[in-house]
Amino acid sequence: MTSLYHQEVELLGIGAGPSNLALAVALEELAPADVAENSLIIEQHENIAWQRGMLLPAARSQVSFLKDLVTLRNPRSKFTFTNYLHSTGRLDQFVNMGSFTPYRIEISDYLQWVAKSLNSVHIEYGLCCAGIEPVRSAGDAAGDIERWLVRLADGSTITCRDLVIGVGREPRIPEVFAAIPGERLVHSTKFGGRLAELDPETPYRIAVIGGAQSAAEMLWAAHQTLPKAQCTMVMRSIGLQTYEHSKFTNELYYPSFVDDFFAAPAGVRRRLLTEMRGTNYSALDPEMLETLYRQIYLERFTRAERLHIVITTDVVDARLDETDVVLTLVDRKTGLSDELRCDIVLLGTGFSPDMPHLVRDLAAAVGLDDVEVSRAYRMTLPGSADPDSADPDSADPDSAGAACYLQGVNEATHGIADSLLSVLAVRAEEIVRDLLGRRAAPEQLFH
Ligand SMILES: Cc1cc2nc3c(=O)[nH]c(=O)nc-3n(C[C@H](O)[C@H](O)[C@H](O)COP(=O)(O)OP(=O)(O)OC[C@H]3O[C@@H](n4cnc5c(N)ncnc54)[C@H](O)[C@@H]3O)c2cc1C
Repeated sequence: MTSLYHQEVELLGIGAGPSNLALAVALEELAPADVAENSLIIEQHENIAWQRGMLLPAARSQVSFLKDLVTLRNPRSKFTFTNYLHSTGRLDQFVNMGSFTPYRIEISDYLQWVAKSLNSVHIEYGLCCAGIEPVRSAGDAAGDIERWLVRLADGSTITCRDLVIGVGREPRIPEVFAAIPGERLVHSTKFGGRLAELDPETPYRIAVIGGAQSAAEMLWAAHQTLPKAQCTMVMRSIGLQTYEHSKFTNELYYPSFVDDFFAAPAGVRRRLLTEMRGTNYSALDPEMLETLYRQIYLERFTRAERLHIVITTDVVDARLDETDVVLTLVDRKTGLSDELRCDIVLLGTGFSPDMPHLVRDLAAAVGLDDVEVSRAYRMTLPGSADPDSADPDSADPDSAGAACYLQGVNEATHGIADSLLSVLAVRAEEIVRDLLGRRAAPEQLFH
């Protein structure tokens, strides 16, 4: 039985994914030692892994290794991916491979190496944040928020002045699958573990829902790992397509583009996000597309078809019929419906665009209907000044109080790169500077 405890820190990061690891690095490099040493990051799992449900052996990062936790902010840092390769004796091999995009398992190993290489910021594992409450001045229900009380799943508590929430986005599980039990319904975030449990000798009927990279990776992994399985991919769109990106549109993933995006009116931001959608969502990398097409071609030729792709189709119902999962499919071209019977449904349906429930609950606890963040990713709390229009010659009225920063969930205000690795080195600096700015006296800050 674990014993409950309470601890107090200055800064608490929730989630030890790339966002908060980049923050830890920025704290070690930019903040005074006492701030870094008083910072704690908690992670719900017993270790660090990058997208653990999709840590498939051949999967590669979609972005350059130079977009690691620090290089775009400080290429001389000891926490660069290049230094990781050097320290682990693999720099020459990586250079010789001649690729900018490491394997996903390699990025995951790099994250673990960074976590172990930190000197001041602490990380504690196996701690899951279950809820966050404001602690107000003098216990007054209407007073200023001075600290946060973070409740862990085991009943322990942590209080902190500053909170940085970096828990990633929540899986999107369409309502239509509500009646399907967990062992038959697997979102991509749980895929790796579930695949390992399946018996390669069983002729499973597998349905993969979605037409983007995660769906394609699951389809291919299931097809390769389960040689007797029939694997059917069902998608709404007109067929698999590759990302619509070019070197020109990639410039919109620069950290510097966040300024332009944030400054744009809300309607313009929405239009830009819609126009940029195909550069990051609802598509796959050309290599994966080619692999799948060639396999289907070969299977048609040899009349040994195991890989099937169903296009322009909606799943309108899903139910359990004795041992079968039965999906009702409607062809969007004809309006005709059909049934697909399967054993397991794999959901490549992506992530919810909403704020994670921890953030929504926190907003409700402080009396906010909507969650808004400043350019520096600081949540606007009731009664706080607008951080973006603060007069630099006056003391920041929020300087004494608590603050909460949100990482990776601000696509609507900070642009399409917000959930990616591309911006997080620079974002970590922006958060640390805002945080230190609130601690400094005005004359130290601006002169
Ligand atoms: C399959 C896949 C592939 C991707 N590939 C790329 C890519 O190639 N390039 C790219 O730029 N982006 C990629 N992404 C986007 C991805 O979101 C980012 O790369 C990155 O992982 C975001 O980091 P994060 O720290 O914000 O969130 P996450 O990586 O999701 O990390 C969140 C962490 O918080 C922990 N956590 C969650 N809830 C709690 C809690 N209540 N208490 C304690 N801990 C908690 C989680 O266990 C996790 O460790 C990919 C995403 C997916 C799903």
